[in-house]
Amino acid sequence: MQQFFIDSTLEINQEKKLKDDIAHQCIHVLRYQDGKMIRCVDQDGKLALCKIRLNNEELFATPIEFVTNNAEMNCKVTLIQALIRKEKWEYCIQKATELGVYRIVPIELKRNVVHWEKQETNRKLERYQKIMTEAAEQSRRNNIPKLENIIQLSDIDQYKSEINFVAYEAEDSSHLRDHLNHPESITIICGPEGGFEESEVEYLVKHGFISVSLGHRILRAETAGLYILSGIDFMLEGFKNA
Ligand code: SAH
Repeated sequence: MQQFFIDSTLEINQEKKLKDDIAHQCIHVLRYQDGKMIRCVDQDGKLALCKIRLNNEELFATPIEFVTNNAEMNCKVTLIQALIRKEKWEYCIQKATELGVYRIVPIELKRNVVHWEKQETNRKLERYQKIMTEAAEQSRRNNIPKLENIIQLSDIDQYKSEINFVAYEAEDSSHLRDHLNHPESITIICGPEGGFEESEVEYLVKHGFISVSLGHRILRAETAGLYILSGIDFMLEGFKNA
């Protein structure tokens, strides 16, 4: 059943008009008819099964019942990702959303080959937040992960968690796995295509980040964050309260 996020609160049997882009998708792309059921998550994260009604180009949804759904990770993972090429960036944020990331923070580092022009940043953030919203809908999450504005290394302290890691391709003595001790939150920073400059890693270590390896192979920039999220989910997250 298709899921949508809506920015109001839902009550049983109280019909709500849905936004134009959701109406367009249901009516023209998915070709839904009156009576079709959809899942709506309201602004408080409550999930309701809703029956839809069409009126020309407008779409209305009536909540029939609330259901519990816990699709979020217990451990909140902040991925600070160096800017990478557009298609890879989009792939990375979409998949990170599917894998349960809590928030994504774009960062500019010395070896970035990509730069976001100031005047383009808002448009980009809007587009990327839309990609993350659709991925969160597709993967039936309770929340849409946050996408922060682009930061510099000197802003890093504001994005720290209970444990903080830098995934460093030249690290050979400590693996991420050795440090995962059921924290409530983790921040991990991944470098760009060109990797980290040593001085950047030194700065991060001074600021409380643990330098870790992700294993024997050097991963592409867009793969590293996804490896980390899958690894954390696999090692730390229960399934159906197991
Ligand atoms: N061009 C560099 C690799 C950059 S990989 C080189 O050839 O050495 C891009 C980013 O992914 C790295 O900066 C790091 O954050 C992460 N990464 C990739 N493989 C890794 C590994 N085996 N261990 C730790 N981090 C890794």
